[in-house]
Amino acid sequence: MDSEQLRENAHRMVDFIADYYKSIESFPVLSQVEPGYLHKLLPDAAPDRPESLQQVLEDVQAKILPGMTHWQSPNYFAYYPSNSSIAGFMGEMLSAGLNIVGFSWITSPAATELEMIVLDWLAKLLNLPDDFLSTGPGGGVIQGTASEAVLVVLLAARDKFLSRIGKSSLDKLVVYSSDQTHSSMQKACQIAGIYPENCRALKTDASTNYALSPDLLNEVISQDISTGLVPFFLCATVGTTSSTAVDPLPTLATVAKRNGMWFHIDAAYAGSACICPEYRPYIDGVEDADSFNMNAHKWFLTNFDCSPLWIKDRNALIQALSTNPEYLKNKASQANMVVDYRDWQIPLGRRFRSLKLWMVLRLYGVQNLQQYIRNHIELARQFEGLVSNDPRFEVVTPRVFSLVCFRLLSPDNDGDKGNKLNRDLLDAVNSTGKIFISHTVLSGMYILRFVVGAPLTEERHVHEAWKVLQDEASKLLATVQNN
Ligand code: PLP
Repeated sequence: MDSEQLRENAHRMVDFIADYYKSIESFPVLSQVEPGYLHKLLPDAAPDRPESLQQVLEDVQAKILPGMTHWQSPNYFAYYPSNSSIAGFMGEMLSAGLNIVGFSWITSPAATELEMIVLDWLAKLLNLPDDFLSTGPGGGVIQGTASEAVLVVLLAARDKFLSRIGKSSLDKLVVYSSDQTHSSMQKACQIAGIYPENCRALKTDASTNYALSPDLLNEVISQDISTGLVPFFLCATVGTTSSTAVDPLPTLATVAKRNGMWFHIDAAYAGSACICPEYRPYIDGVEDADSFNMNAHKWFLTNFDCSPLWIKDRNALIQALSTNPEYLKNKASQANMVVDYRDWQIPLGRRFRSLKLWMVLRLYGVQNLQQYIRNHIELARQFEGLVSNDPRFEVVTPRVFSLVCFRLLSPDNDGDKGNKLNRDLLDAVNSTGKIFISHTVLSGMYILRFVVGAPLTEERHVHEAWKVLQDEASKLLATVQNN
């Protein structure tokens, strides 16, 4: 690594990225390329001789950017956001520049200790119970994704139970969640060897706004116990992926406690909002959870990936995940004086992710972060108002955070035709390249999802997006009426 070359090349790269952000609105938000497009544009083998950065950047401009969906565009309203920010980007750059692999404390004490400190800061900001702080028997760890977070706590819970009831009882262990729980729960069960027939995705409907019903949960648990099964893991969600449903944490916590189950809370998207006192009540009940997870890389200005997970009993994780090979032994670890995060996650190697979260917290400060969340929620509220004022549309589920679930009403009130109409509307608006939204299905109904969460989105973008939706809806309704 030649420092002067680094200085020159990195400056050019930063210029390139700054120009990208400057012109980001000129690209179609959703990439319009056909599958396999890149094979036609790039050679079949790596070059024998070095090329220049200039040549590579020209290819990025001409061949890569057209194949990108622009998640950071202010006109991106799909799925959930994946925030970038100057602070997050610089933290990521610093992490790439320092490039340590911090699996044990000794491999970079600062990486472990900064992660512990920053996750304590964030836990205090979220007003999580003291049991989740690193000063007690629990603590926080940055996972790559919410999927990894739920997997590691499921493994911890599984092994805790099996050590009590015997290894041969794996086929008896039952996991509970709702049919709105993210598919990462199912994947975690597949990896952890939980029997598929013992994974309960309990049905939800509009009567609870798609939140898990404690009565139904109690009923199913009782049935399972009566057939000799062992309820061991309950996953509740605050802000489900389809519609931001909020499961009733305090009641679910009571059910989990009564049955001695591990209680995990997935607040991947909505957790960020809970740094605002007015949204904090949505995680009331977290006091009784065994683990809690949010994705700072979704809605907290922290570049992907960064998924903080807090756990009350770190030993449960360590029991399930630790190994002790000779080549990793060192005095600090052997003396049990330090945290070795390699025992809290699936891989051995780990990046210095806490740098970017630390930089986000320091360079923005709590008040700005709260304002950032409030602004997005206010913009979503405005969008909800626009939809409600147009009688051709309806808001389908009550808006809680910055997601609006809505649909175009079928003129003849026919369910199937209504679904097709909204599928067509989604395709039509996304094909314009002006905005990108996504969809879900609730109770058999095809629904459009509009999420405000991109850092560059302003009021005008939301209003212009609504205009695109209205224009495309008018065109579609005209063809429907002419047929
Ligand atoms: N949980 C919820 C509620 C989500 O909405 C998502 C993704 O959108 C996930 C989990 C999975 O997130 P990740 O990609 O970090 O695994």
